[in-house]
Amino acid sequence: MDPLVVFDPIYLQHVQHPGHPESPQRLEAMRSRLEELGLWVPTTPSEPASLQQLEMVHDRRYLSALAARPAGPLDGDTYLHAHTFAHARMAAGGALRALSDARVDRPALGLLRPPGHHARPGAAMGFCYLNNIAVAAAAVTAQGRRVAIVDLDLHHGNGTQEIFWERPDVLFLSTHEEGNYPGTGGSDEVGAGDGQGATLNIPLPAGSGDGTFAAAMDQVILPTLTDFAPAVVLVSLGTDAHGRDPLGRLALSSAGLVGLVRSLHELCAQRLEAPLVLLLEGGYDLQAGADCIGGIAGLLAGERVQLRFSTPTDRACVGGDWVRTARQVAEHHRPALRA
Ligand SMILES: [Zn+2]
Repeated sequence: MDPLVVFDPIYLQHVQHPGHPESPQRLEAMRSRLEELGLWVPTTPSEPASLQQLEMVHDRRYLSALAARPAGPLDGDTYLHAHTFAHARMAAGGALRALSDARVDRPALGLLRPPGHHARPGAAMGFCYLNNIAVAAAAVTAQGRRVAIVDLDLHHGNGTQEIFWERPDVLFLSTHEEGNYPGTGGSDEVGAGDGQGATLNIPLPAGSGDGTFAAAMDQVILPTLTDFAPAVVLVSLGTDAHGRDPLGRLALSSAGLVGLVRSLHELCAQRLEAPLVLLLEGGYDLQAGADCIGGIAGLLAGERVQLRFSTPTDRACVGGDWVRTARQVAEHHRPALRA
């Protein structure tokens, strides 16, 4: 079966400025790889996210400002151009399309730009304007269903965490490089109010690779998802935890990232009976991004794809720093860890 890939040519029109790492070339490299593999049969989102859908996670005043503000920088590395709001609304619309088309036996892969997981309720940051995955999650909870978000990006999904900080019906799980941008995501950040315990952060030391990520998946993420029993699992799929990425010091191989997605796919299909929706976030090495997305699309299509960067590297190692990280996570989430 063809993989369910959501993409719109409009995602290629968004340009921060020439030379910026969050470039259209990221998606072009992924598209070329999927074409090469015979897996490029994209579904195109027909419409942008509506203001009503966006207001479920963003402040109305912020949305009005994005629509009306003159072009210029919103933060040090995130620019507003004349069409940025329209492009970002199409990316959020793509997240909604992936959600509505995904089925338990057919996960969806949204190749979206601009990315979204740093976008806060009332502010753009870190190349993100609208929080695509949060918009999709809010559409699930609006139906009275529980949703889980697994953020595998190199960077902490601070915007997503903030949006659902007090929500008991949205489980937010994040692996990210400790100390990297934006500096949030400590294991002691667990949510508040009714949402206390529904945020679970796994900050990983530089050098963490396939073995460490697999331990985090098997010992923390999968059991926590099983206990929470969400109706849908959404994934913030960055490829920047890859060892080749220029913005980070984590060390996943392509096979490592594909393996994490495989674990989530199996859990969703076999135990949770929940659709899996993968939404692209960051990832700045063009070849590594294309390699990972090729492998993931192959996995979803039930085809074996040869990966270029599949040698596992793991300086932190399962036995060393992982034990310390796992202890810290367990301190704040006693039921979560079943090592
Ligand atoms: Zn990132």
